[in-house]
This record gives sequence, structure tokens and C-alpha cells, in this order.
Amino acid sequence: MQSLKVLGACQAVLKFQRGIASISSLPETHQMLYKTCRDFAEEELKPIAAKIDREHKFPEEQLKKMSDLGLLGVTMPESLGGTGLDYLAYAIVMEEISRGCASTGVIISVMNSLFLGPIEKFGSKEQKEKYITEFLKNKKLGCFALSEPGNGSDAGAASTVAQLEGSNYIVNGTKCWITNGYEAEGTVLFATTDKAKKHKGISSFIVDKPTQGLSLGKKEDKLGIRGSSTCSLIFEDCPVPVENILGEPGMGFKIAMMTLDSGRIGIAGQALGIAQASLDCAMEYASKRTAFGQPIVKLQAIQQKLADMALKVESSRLLTWRAAYLKDNNKPYTKEAAMAKVSSSEAATFCSHQCIQILGGMGYVSDMPAERYYRDARITEIYEGTSEIQRLVIAGNLIKELNL
Ligand SMILES: Cc1cc2nc3c(=O)[nH]c(=O)nc-3n(C[C@H](O)[C@H](O)[C@H](O)COP(=O)(O)OP(=O)(O)OC[C@H]3O[C@@H](n4cnc5c(N)ncnc54)[C@H](O)[C@@H]3O)c2cc1C
Repeated sequence: MQSLKVLGACQAVLKFQRGIASISSLPETHQMLYKTCRDFAEEELKPIAAKIDREHKFPEEQLKKMSDLGLLGVTMPESLGGTGLDYLAYAIVMEEISRGCASTGVIISVMNSLFLGPIEKFGSKEQKEKYITEFLKNKKLGCFALSEPGNGSDAGAASTVAQLEGSNYIVNGTKCWITNGYEAEGTVLFATTDKAKKHKGISSFIVDKPTQGLSLGKKEDKLGIRGSSTCSLIFEDCPVPVENILGEPGMGFKIAMMTLDSGRIGIAGQALGIAQASLDCAMEYASKRTAFGQPIVKLQAIQQKLADMALKVESSRLLTWRAAYLKDNNKPYTKEAAMAKVSSSEAATFCSHQCIQILGGMGYVSDMPAERYYRDARITEIYEGTSEIQRLVIAGNLIKELNL
């Protein structure tokens, strides 16, 4: 697959501004990618999504095929074995894959943006070779370990400690809620190397899995995205070689925040996929179900709901594509990524709620996917920064623009 030309992206965005937020307004590369992902989701993910949710089963076979399609390293340079596409492409991948299966969506989002992303940006040549090229070649997954039992939103208060002893850092502490925790063979870990410096004393490391002194907690029994694993990583006198530090000591908090900025574009894409799937499901059902002698889609009460759903999906997609465009063009995008995430995640919750309402009783049972969309949607308002934290980021940037 070829890299997107900047000109193509500019043209695409000009078209968005004229109100054509459709795939046909995108460069050809992105249209092809969209079709590939949509076909894959229809043929390979939709048929298994309910089963892996019910059985808490990791979609191993599907991930192998997605790796062959280049969907595990979408934005990684071709020179490192990646697909060499941009963040607009990544947003499209995340939406289309999550439209088929939101569990699979989060698995690939953690690999793409939370594991490979910071290694590509801050890693040494050797680290990139070992953890990007080798991981992509051998279809290995990664994870990202920032949250702890005592602090999630307040990530700067990390209590996991990495103490330098000879040629190793010795890590002690517990990280929780780690997506891909069971399957990942590497993790980007955040731990404090100098507690007195608070968030400026946090450093980032790449840790192999399994490794001596690292054990896994129980698999969490979640409301949604149940095909993905979530567990604690417990570090007990775990030696991490000095050469596995990512960037410089004390850069960890900055690395985490920058990684989450771009990760939020992926989660916005995941949420959009759930929102769009809910709208598609509601449209199809409403066109077939009859009440009082006509399809319910002819009832204005139903039409109002469908219109509100479409409004939220399309406006959130524009915000998401805008954030991706800004990132792809090296412009500031922190506020825009937060806007995209909060808007898309709330759209997913709204649309899945309305989808159940439009399906009536059929929305409430697992014969139809609506109840799964509703359960899957909820997490998008929580991970990679809750909606409250996104609003703080947006407001903080607005206030900064005042130059007070
Ligand atoms: C399924 C799942 C997967 C996850 N995957 C990962 C992962 O792979 N890696 C990882 O590191 N973490 C992961 N997380 C953790 C996730 O990022 C955190 O749960 C999230 O950041 C919120 O932190 P918390 O749960 O500690 O909530 P808290 O920080 O305790 O927040 C509780 C409530 O207080 C609000 N709040 C907190 N501070 C403020 C504030 N300053 N202003 C206003 N409101 C505030 C929050 O918005 C929330 O409503 C995952 C979580 C889940 C549930």
C-alpha cells in the first residue's frame, strides 16, 4: 500500500469543509483501504462477533489475517515492515473493523497506536528493529501499561517504581486494566525512576513478555468488548535492561500523553464504527418491521431518532477526520483529538441506545447485535481518557488560546 500524498489529504479536507464527508471524497488509497476493511468486517468479523463476545474468546485467526492485510501496523513506515499509511487511513481502519467487531477494534488500536506508536516516535534503531519490524513480521501483539489500581485519570501519580541497579532497572508495582495483557509479547510500561520529581520522574520502558518477575492478574469480566482480554500486570523485582528505556529517563509522562493524543483518534474511530453499526441495524430493522399497517420507518417518531443518530455519526466523523488530518500534517491536534473522542464516544452510546429503542423487544435480546453495541459503546467514554478528562483537555486548550 502506498503512502498518502499530502495534496490528496488537503483536497479531501477541502471537500469535507464543503460538506461532503463521504468515503468517495477521499484519495483513492483510502477508498481502497475502506473497501478492504469493510469487506473483511462483513465476511470475517460480523459472523464471529457475537460468539467471541459470549465466550470471551480472543479472535486469533482473524488477527492473523488482519496482520497479512497490514492492519496491525497501519501507520508504521514501510522500511520497518509497516503499511506506511497515515492517521486518516488509521481512523478509517478503526471505524470499519469496529463496525464489524468492536473487540477486534480495540485489540488492533492498542497494537497500532499505543504499542508501536511510541516506539516508532521515541525508540532507538535497535528498539524499532526488535519491537516494530520483528513484532509485525512474527504477528506478535503489544500492550500499553499506564493505569494503576490507585490512579487512572491522574496518570502522573504512578506508584510503580523502576530502580536502577547495575545494568538493569528493577521494576515493582501493579498496572491494571491492560488491554491485550494476556496475549501481548511486549509492553510499553510507565514507572517512576525519581518519585521526588512527580510526573517528571516517570520513565517509559519496553518490557518483553513473558519475563522474570512479571505475572498476570485475572482476566477481567467486562460489560463489553469481551473478545479482548483485560488484566493486571504484576511486577515483582522484575529486571528490565537499561537499553530498554524508551527515550530518556524522565520523559515517560510526555511519551504517555503524546501517545494518548494519537490513540484517541483510533478510539474515536472505534466509537464511530459502533455508532454506524447501530444506525445501520436500526435502519434495516425499521424498514422491515411493520406496526399499525406500515413499516415503522415511516413513523415520524422513528425518523426523528434516525435523523439524530445520523447527525451524531456524521459530525463525529468529520471531527475524527479533521484530527487525523491535522496530525498527518504536523499541526497541533490535542484539542481536536479530544473533541473527536468525546463526540464519537457519546455518539456511540447515544446511537446504540436509540438502536435498542427502535428494535423494541428485539433490541433487548442477544439474537440481535443491538444489545452488544450498547455494551461495547460504553467503554469508549472511559478508556484513553474519560469524557470528563477530554473536556478538561478541550477547555485547557481553549483557555490557552486566550493568552491570559
Ligand atoms: C476495558 C478497559 C481497558 C483498558 N485498557 C487500558 C490499557 O490498555 N492500558 C492502560 O494503561 N489503561 C487501560 N484502561 C484504564 C483506563 O484508561 C482508565 O480506567 C481510565 O483512564 C479512567 O481511570 P480510572 O478507572 O482510574 O478512573 P478515575 O480516574 O478514578 O476516575 C473516576 C471518575 O472520576 C472522574 N475524574 C477523575 N479525575 C477528574 C478530573 N480531574 N475532573 C473531572 N472528573 C475527573 C473520571 O472522569 C471518572 O468519571 C482500561 C480500562 C478499561 C475499563
